[in-house]
Amino acid sequence: MIDETHDPALRSWVELANVPGCDFPIQNLPLGVYSTAVDPNPRPGVAIGDAILDLRPWLSGPHLADYFSLSASDRRLFRLTLSRALRQGAPTRPLIPLRDAILHLPAPVGDYTDFYCSLHHASNVGKMFRPNQPLSPNYSWMPLAYHGRSSSIVVSPTPVRRPCGQLGENRFGPTAELDYELELGAWLGPGSMMGRPVSIDQAEDHWAGICLLNDWSARDIQRWEYQPLGPFLSKNFATSISPWVITREALEPFRVSYDAPQPLPYLKQRSDGAFDLTLEAWIRTPTCSTPELICRTNLRYLHWTLAQMIAHHTSNGCPIRPGDLIGTGTVSGPDPESQACLLERTWRGTQPLRLASGEERGYLEDGDEVILRGWAERPGFVRIGLGECRGVILAALEENSQA
Ligand code: CA
Repeated sequence: MIDETHDPALRSWVELANVPGCDFPIQNLPLGVYSTAVDPNPRPGVAIGDAILDLRPWLSGPHLADYFSLSASDRRLFRLTLSRALRQGAPTRPLIPLRDAILHLPAPVGDYTDFYCSLHHASNVGKMFRPNQPLSPNYSWMPLAYHGRSSSIVVSPTPVRRPCGQLGENRFGPTAELDYELELGAWLGPGSMMGRPVSIDQAEDHWAGICLLNDWSARDIQRWEYQPLGPFLSKNFATSISPWVITREALEPFRVSYDAPQPLPYLKQRSDGAFDLTLEAWIRTPTCSTPELICRTNLRYLHWTLAQMIAHHTSNGCPIRPGDLIGTGTVSGPDPESQACLLERTWRGTQPLRLASGEERGYLEDGDEVILRGWAERPGFVRIGLGECRGVILAALEENSQA
């Protein structure tokens, strides 16, 4: 799956794409949807260096739904076409500076499913809420998930309103325990037929690309509502995603071996099904303009792979469609620095984070901005970045605070 598009010697005629450390070198070629003040019609584009190349010569429609419908082999051909068009020596084309672009959701999200694939996260949360049985017995047998809500998926940097909800018996008001969850999202495509499970071997061809995903969570609402049917209003008020779709093809050089548990045959993953992808969360408070790192973790800490999530999701015949989105679940690792939400990092708010500014945070406050970042690097290949996923917290609406 490594081909000429991954060649570290490739250079682009877009000069800033050749600067080491750039998120969008020619080896990345992430796809997104943008508009400008001059032309407010959303349309697909590819990010290169500090600019966007319009994709209308190759892709029809106002978003990436057509792209997500392509087969894996057609996606590879499309990447090759873009790589050749952007190489040094190819004719230059007009570009749109990234700073002039307004970025939109890459496609209308069909169905959204959020998994729970970090054993570290599941163990920590379990210890807090169910000390006598932190991990449910099914955990080591299947990737657990719940069906989320696509209507509240927003693109970075859309602000997020603090939600109100039931906080206990006879109590309704703004959440006092607003949290982030650092996750990876995966855009699915080309889709599967109802009644036809996607096998674990085919499953790699059924995700088209990834994004950063922040599953905003209201912990007090969650604690009160989650039994017996799982999260509902504590999670579905907002989910933020980064605007650029990092294609599966761009990620191929960053596969790593997967320490497989011994699951049932339909979940038996090939040995290199995991990815070495660094993920970070930063916080910027209203009183300190410099963002501060609060989490660094890695996708390889997950107990289950994207292919296993897809194979399991379709194992009962449930169809997936192009433009469906899955989240991996909070990507927590083994160390405190890699705990990817405040619930874990501050142990339910009992051990607040002390920031460089002297401020403390148990949970998020109004005006706080959470910034997710991610990248992959490996000797012999060019580093690629995921861009950013941002969201600032707005105060709860006064009129909703009392029910
Ligand atoms: Ca989640």
